[in-house]
Amino acid sequence: MSELSPTVAESILSRLFPPTCVLCGAPGSASGRDLCAGCTADLPRNLEACARCALPFDTRMPPGTLCGRCQRRLPPFGRCLAAFRYEGVVPSLVVGAKFEGRLDLARLLGQCLAEAVRGSEPQWPEVLVPVPLHPKRLRARGYNQAHEIARVLGRELSLPVDPLCCSRVRATPPQSGLDERERRRNLRGAFEVQEPLRWRRLAIVDDVVTTGSTIVELARVLRRAGAERIEVWAVARTP
Ligand SMILES: [Zn+2]
Ligand SMILES: [Zn+2]
Repeated sequence: MSELSPTVAESILSRLFPPTCVLCGAPGSASGRDLCAGCTADLPRNLEACARCALPFDTRMPPGTLCGRCQRRLPPFGRCLAAFRYEGVVPSLVVGAKFEGRLDLARLLGQCLAEAVRGSEPQWPEVLVPVPLHPKRLRARGYNQAHEIARVLGRELSLPVDPLCCSRVRATPPQSGLDERERRRNLRGAFEVQEPLRWRRLAIVDDVVTTGSTIVELARVLRRAGAERIEVWAVARTP
């Protein structure tokens, strides 16, 4: 049997399973998203944030304002875009996509991120690179949520996804509870880039950016391998 094209398959699926809001159960959006208009409007969009690292600001700032940390030292990526603040219902959506095998939530988050990217006048990259998981963790979890989100994003934005150009070669202990310096040390040597790197302009895709040490380290090794322009596109950023 020949494979159905994704759009035909999607329209059949959406007739069989009409989009339903994952948060309140109301009918989903007309564009086939599993989120109703009301719940979409309630999501904490990360509009007031550092222009480089997406750190949420408490108050309104002039466009282009940098946080204190980026003023002290610019990160090795050009810009991090985070669709949402990691608060309200966002953590439950992200945790579901990450640890509970809810690939429907990964799809929804990818769709939301695509919309945020489209609205942000991005520097279009050649490729999307999901933050890699260590093979051991990938085996345990069965999937990499960043890759699942990147897959949806790639389809929505017509960009290829390259999950193989870099890998996580060191399983790092959990980062929570560590301060910034310890996190950096913890991550040193964690990533390896397959050389030669084919890409010059890329967007790293992640689910949540916490302190930013992971994306800083990954961007650093990608730059060393020849990447010239790197953006980070993430679903959410912690305050
Ligand atoms: Zn809803
Ligand atoms: Zn910043």
